[in-house]
Formats: sequence, C-alpha cells, structure tokens
Amino acid sequence: MTDVSKKTPGLLLVVSGPSGTGKTTIVNALGKRLDGVFSVSATTRPPSVGEVDGREYRFLSREEFAEIAARGVFLEHARVYGDHYYGTPQEPVLRHLAEGRLVILDIDVQGAVKVKQAMPDAFMIFILPPSDQELLRRLRDRGREDEASIQRRFAEATGEIARATDSGVYDARIVNEDLQQAINEACRLVQERRGRWGRWGVAGQ
Ligand code: ADP
Ligand code: 5GP
Repeated sequence: MTDVSKKTPGLLLVVSGPSGTGKTTIVNALGKRLDGVFSVSATTRPPSVGEVDGREYRFLSREEFAEIAARGVFLEHARVYGDHYYGTPQEPVLRHLAEGRLVILDIDVQGAVKVKQAMPDAFMIFILPPSDQELLRRLRDRGREDEASIQRRFAEATGEIARATDSGVYDARIVNEDLQQAINEACRLVQERRGRWGRWGVAGQ
C-alpha cells in the first residue's frame, strides 16, 4: 500500500465549509492565481445544470462508486448530505504533490479529518458565510438545486460548522463576506504557509 503520509515537494490544501458558502468560487480563483491543481472528486450525486463529467466531478453510479472504493482508489470517501457519496481519487493527488504542485481539495469535514490523519502536512482552511440569511440567499441564487435540496443543505450548515470546530483540524477560518477579500486572504495564508515551509509544504528546505 502507498505510504501517503511521507513528505512531498508539493502542498496539499484542503478547503471545507457549508454548501453555498463560496468554496468553489474561492478555490477556482485561488487555483488560477497560485497555479494550483483542483482535485476532481467522484460522486454519486447527479450532475447539476452546467456541470461536466470529469470537470466538476466524475459522476458515477452507486455500483461504480462502491467498486472503485473497494479497490482502494480513494484517499478518502464519505457519505455527504444523507444520500450521496463523494470520494477523492488518490493517484492524481500524490502525483501532483510529487511534482511539487499546489493540490486543492474541496471536501467536507468528515473527509478533511481523514485526509489530515493520512497526510498531516495538509494545510486546512474552513470557509464561513457572513450570516445564515446570506447563506440561504447564495444557495438559492446559484439556482443549482430544488428548494428541498437547498433546505437540506442549509439545515446541515450549523452541524458542519460545529463538526469543523470539534475536529480541531483547521489551520484557518475565513468569513466569505466580500469575495475579493476572502480570495486575497486565502492566497495570503497559502503563500505564508509556503514561505514558512520553504518550498511547498516541505519543512526546512
Ligand atoms: P460552495 O462551493 O461553497 O457550495 P459556491 O462557490 O457555489 O459555494 O457559491 C455559492 C453562490 O454564492 C454562487 O452563486 C457564488 O457566485 C456566490 N458567492 C460566492 N461568494 C460570494 C460573496 N462573497 N458574495 C456574494 N456571493 C458570493
Ligand atoms: P456539492 O454537491 O455541493 O458539490 O458538494 C457537497 C459537499 O461535498 C461539499 O461540502 C463538498 O465540499 C463535499 N465534497 C465534494 N467532494 C468531496 C470528496 O471527494 N470527499 C468528501 N468527503 N467530500 C466532498
């Protein structure tokens, strides 16, 4: 089995936060600015309007997902929002880290805890909405889910924030009120981590 805990020249960035808080928007901007590679997860949830297989996610049936999980392909996988499975394919993450790249995961708190256990050098950021009201507005505004799904995601937000606090795995929290400020702060934190660790993530180099 691959030892995923050993130090690599790259930096693994894990970003979590309640659905609709702005993770995707921030991660896309940060990836462009810092030349990061986004890790495309597999999921059993159906694609939303505008999502392309292999770009936002690899969309799999439950059977396909279970078969891949059983083969140990995932670095972590979890059941999220009750009825769908999500997983991070391990091989591209390790390959890009070995190449010295910044690799970005947008995953939930359960997944983040598993990644931190497996890869203790991962840098972990949690994104918060400025208020409940604004979170609900953003979930509705993006027009991706039906109202029942929006309400389920909204109801999960408080629990996800509590799990993040209890987990103790996050290095930083960012309140995404003004988008540009949140992106700047995320970039600053990642650059600071890089500076402190020499090259991406490798202490003492
Ligand atoms: P997540 O990936 O966390 O589910 P998204 O990145 O899809 O969230 O953002 C949800 C919605 O909120 C999108 O329509 C996005 O354009 C919008 N959004 C993100 N950040 C902000 C912000 N700071 N202010 C206003 N709207 C935002
Ligand atoms: P969405 O369906 O809104 O794209 O994502 C729902 C939730 O699943 C988000 O909290 C997102 O961070 C999380 N997620 C996406 N991919 C993964 C993954 O590979 N593993 C885990 N554990 N969570 C994921």
